[in-house]
Amino acid sequence: MSGLDRRRVLRGAAGAAALAGWGQVLAGGGAAHAAGVRESRVIARRAGAFEVLALLDAHGPFPGKRQDHFAGATASDWRRAERIDPAAFGPDDTWELDFRCYAIRGPGGRVTLVDTGIGPAGSPASGWAPVPGHLPEVLTAAGIGASDVDTVVLTHLHEDHYGWAVGPDRTPMFPEARHVVQRAETAALGEHDSAMSYVVDPLRAAGLLDEVDGRVRLLSGARGGSGAGRGHGGAATLVPTPGHTAGHQSVLVEGGARRIMVTGDVLVHAVQLANPAVSYGFERDKEAARQSRQRLLAEARRTRAVLATPHLNRAFVPAVESRESGWSKARLGGGQ
Ligand SMILES: [Zn+2]
Repeated sequence: MSGLDRRRVLRGAAGAAALAGWGQVLAGGGAAHAAGVRESRVIARRAGAFEVLALLDAHGPFPGKRQDHFAGATASDWRRAERIDPAAFGPDDTWELDFRCYAIRGPGGRVTLVDTGIGPAGSPASGWAPVPGHLPEVLTAAGIGASDVDTVVLTHLHEDHYGWAVGPDRTPMFPEARHVVQRAETAALGEHDSAMSYVVDPLRAAGLLDEVDGRVRLLSGARGGSGAGRGHGGAATLVPTPGHTAGHQSVLVEGGARRIMVTGDVLVHAVQLANPAVSYGFERDKEAARQSRQRLLAEARRTRAVLATPHLNRAFVPAVESRESGWSKARLGGGQ
């Protein structure tokens, strides 16, 4: 077991108490599964009629030093970030991160998958991400077959989010699913962007690409679909959160009194939770990204939502934790 694995298992033991009463571990891998909780690759939380499953595709270091990617972060921002996500802090200032997808399982067992990870060996992410990812076997461990997935939400078209939308032979992995992306996202792709040839063209050719505009209701948890939104059944809704990319979107899951915000890359590191004003180097429009992040996090704190993010080393983080880490209202720049 590597030092990293050992740390994760130790964290698992400490995190077990926090998880109790919130969710349950469904499946995990080998010795780590036997030894601890957090190592598991499938972690579930319930929100009313919905079950939200965190599915770990991969874990590894990001190229370069962490300071290079978040140039505006102060020493105190980093200290607060380390309290929220200590596993992100690797040796020699590296940034260690998870690559995670989420599945929303509704009444009747139908599944909405949010993002599809880094993909197989040779996928476009292979130039920098720890391919191959493990999403196919993790889905199996979660009891989800390809035909159970009727919707795939692509939060955005970066290489580490669309990798398993198609298999190694470029045919769709989820042939019965509509693949929902904001029209602004595909419209902003360059002709030679790898997303175009790798995923957009094959999905379009198969009639599986559903380009939408703005806020869209995906699911109603009420049987018979009353459209009551926050009623007893709840809802899952696409929320545009542009900036990281032109058409970036998140998914808000509302079930009873519990809200889970599947953020996508609105924030990619806990330092952006510690201080939402901190930009990430690869954001396409930093000011738009900052506004989306501040708005989303302010709303998440106000409603006591749980954040479900692809790249933190924790599958679910209560938004209020950011306040406990020292994130003051003033830092929100007048946000609610
Ligand atoms: Zn990403």
